[in-house]
This record gives sequence, structure tokens and C-alpha cells, in this order.
Amino acid sequence: MPRMKNVVLLGSTGSIGTSTLKVVEDLPDQLRLIGLAAGGNATLLEQQAVRHRPQAVSLQDPSAAAALASRLPQIAVHSGTDGLVTLATLPEADIVLIAIVGTAGLAPALAAIRAGKDIAVASKEILVMAGEIVMSEARRHGVRVLAVDSEHSAIFQCLGDRPPSSVRRLILTASGGPFRTTPREAFAGITVEQALKHPSWVMGRKITIDSATLFNKGLEMIEARWLFDIEMDRVDVIVHPQSVVHSMVEFVDGSIVAQLSTPDMCLPIQVALCHPDRLPSQRVQTDFARLGSLTFENPDPVRFPALSLARRAGEVGGTLPAVLNAANEIAVERFCRRELSFPGIWETVGRVMETHAVVTHPGLDEILAADRWAREAASR
Ligand code: NDP
Repeated sequence: MPRMKNVVLLGSTGSIGTSTLKVVEDLPDQLRLIGLAAGGNATLLEQQAVRHRPQAVSLQDPSAAAALASRLPQIAVHSGTDGLVTLATLPEADIVLIAIVGTAGLAPALAAIRAGKDIAVASKEILVMAGEIVMSEARRHGVRVLAVDSEHSAIFQCLGDRPPSSVRRLILTASGGPFRTTPREAFAGITVEQALKHPSWVMGRKITIDSATLFNKGLEMIEARWLFDIEMDRVDVIVHPQSVVHSMVEFVDGSIVAQLSTPDMCLPIQVALCHPDRLPSQRVQTDFARLGSLTFENPDPVRFPALSLARRAGEVGGTLPAVLNAANEIAVERFCRRELSFPGIWETVGRVMETHAVVTHPGLDEILAADRWAREAASR
């Protein structure tokens, strides 16, 4: 029987966060939550804390945290970035799962690694912005960076311990999003409501819009490049609308290994938290006869320019991926506020990328400066 693991969960009130709580509740003898952090949803965080009795919790806002502290006298209540770092470095923590939307997960991720903790990464921003730094720090401190994204979890499961030299290419699957078959002429009229309807996954707002533009897949290409130490030109994308094949590895001998299951984020979360063990769960059941057929098609680069923008950012490297990520975040917010059209999202990102003076092999400060610069540029 594997020993009990102490888990810190950053972003507990979100889509990945609440799925993680289900996994922990499925495996009460293997997983224990000792830290929970949220942004603004104090009510849900309080309910989670009452149920799971962690050592410590954290909210973004100090006054909301102070109010929560008076209602949770047995639990240490922290706030802000310092609070996230305190939780990520709790001496008893074995693994820190980071599922905060945006860039706020980067500082606690690095703090956890430097404190010798394994990290499980849902927040794509961490590896897209600072993949080179995060992976080299993880190697230096002898900790694992485990993927929570279903695509990267699939590649991780297919790859096993084989080295990058055994790989011909990684093949990330994409559902194609809600506009897979929408004609190009209709793109300018796409509404926020239409973009928020994802065909196969229920997720947070930002990632759902990213799945509609395919920026999500673009960010995943960059994430895969760092997680698996494979250059961008060996990372491919194929559209697979059923979202059953979660991704594949093509080895140098031509053999392809894929990981399949009906879509449910609880599975990759469990794989990451329980690694290297496989623990029983009845949650995911896959019935191939009912699924009938699995189909594949090439992504359309004309209707979905996000993929080529992300490939360029990943190939050039340096500060450009952070710029792509930040510009996209602002453009998505502006689309949601109805200040930009749907194609305006990638037009904005493309323009901001063109005007950026790339810093190669940047330090963290230069990455954060590029992030701030891109946010301002995309807001204009
Ligand atoms: P949600 O929007 O559902 O949740 C975001 C979480 O982040 C919430 O718990 C929110 O708290 C918290 N948060 C936001 N800002 C802060 C902050 N400053 N400090 C602490 N917590 C904060 O997002 P998802 O769960 O969908 O996604 C989370 C990350 O995981 C994203 O990076 C996404 O790309 C990635 N991901 C998501 C997948 C999915 O299926 N949903 C799949 C693969 C990756 P609150 O609600 O209290 O404000």
C-alpha cells in the first residue's frame, strides 16, 4: 500500500481545484490535503476547509483572509503571494498542485521546487513563461514536475522513462473547439456566449475561450517542449473531436503509443498526485463500442492562426512565449468585455509579438518585465 501523501492545492475553488477535491475524497488513505488556496471565493474555501481540515489556507485579499481567520480558529489563514508561497513550502507537504489561472502560480511553483517538493502543474502559464527556469530548478533540486493537463499526462504515461532521443514526435490532440467546422466568414460575428460552449470539457472561462481560438493548444505545445525536453519542430497537433485519445508519442522506430479514456480531468489529476503508483478508481469508464468511431483531421492554420503564433513563440523562445501568453490573456479579457472581436484576439497577440524585442535566456525578472510590457501593449 503506497504511503499517505500530503497535498497542497493552490486554486482549490476552480474547475481543476474542485476535481482535485473529488480525487482526494476518492482516496482518503493515500491523499491528505494540508493546504488550500483560493483567489476571491471565501465561501467555497471555507466549506472546503471545514470538510478537509487543512493546516493552512490562503485567500488573495488580506482583509477577506482576516475575516475568514475569525471563522476558522484552528487553521492558519494567509493571504496574497506570500500566502501562496507559505502554503507551497509547508514542511509537511509532499506535492503541490498548482491550478491558479494566470501568472500568480509562478512564484509558489518555484518556491515549492526550491523547498524540495514535487509539483503537479495545471496552470499552463508556469511552463509557457518560465519553462527553462522551472525545469532547470527542478533538475537542480531533484524534484519532479508532473503534468495535470490531460494531453501532457497522456504523453507522460506513453513515454515512461524513455529519453527524448527515442522520440520522433509528440502528437497533441485537440478537440478543435466549438468552431471546428465554422466557416471563416462567420468568425468576426462569434459571440462570447458561443465561445464559452466547449464540445467536450467543462472548464474555467479563460481556458474555454483559449480552446475556441486554439491558443490553448498553442500554449500546450510550448508546455510540452519544456516538460519533455523536445524541440518545437517535434511537437505536432492533430484535431480529434471525440477527445478520447488524449495525446500520443511517436517513437523513432515508427511505433505510436497513445493514452485513451473518456474525458474526465479527475484521471490526469489522480495520475499526477499518485505517481509513481496506479491506484484503483471507478470514476472513468470507457466503452469503445458506444463511442463507435474516433476521427482525426489536420488543424486549419488559416482559421486558427494561434497555432502558428505559438509555434513561432516556442521556436524563438526567450521572452516571446511570456509575451504571447500575456497578450492572449488581455485579449481574451477584452473579448469577454466585448471590446474585441473573436479574430481580434489573435490579431492583438500577433501585433504585440511583432513589436517585442526578445531577450534570449531571460532571468525571472526579465520574464516578468516582458509579461508586464505585453499586458500594457495588448491593452492599447
Ligand atoms: P478556474 O477559473 O476554474 O479556477 C481558477 C482558480 O484560481 C480558482 O480557484 C481561483 O480562485 C484561483 N485564483 C485565481 N487567482 C488567484 C490568486 N491570485 N491566488 C490564489 N488563487 C487564485 O480555472 P481552471 O481550474 O479551469 O484552470 C486553472 C489552471 O489550470 C489554468 O491555468 C488552466 O489553463 C489550467 N488547466 C485547466 C484545465 C481544466 O480542465 N479546467 C485543464 C488543463 C489545465 P477564486 O475562484 O476563489 O477566485
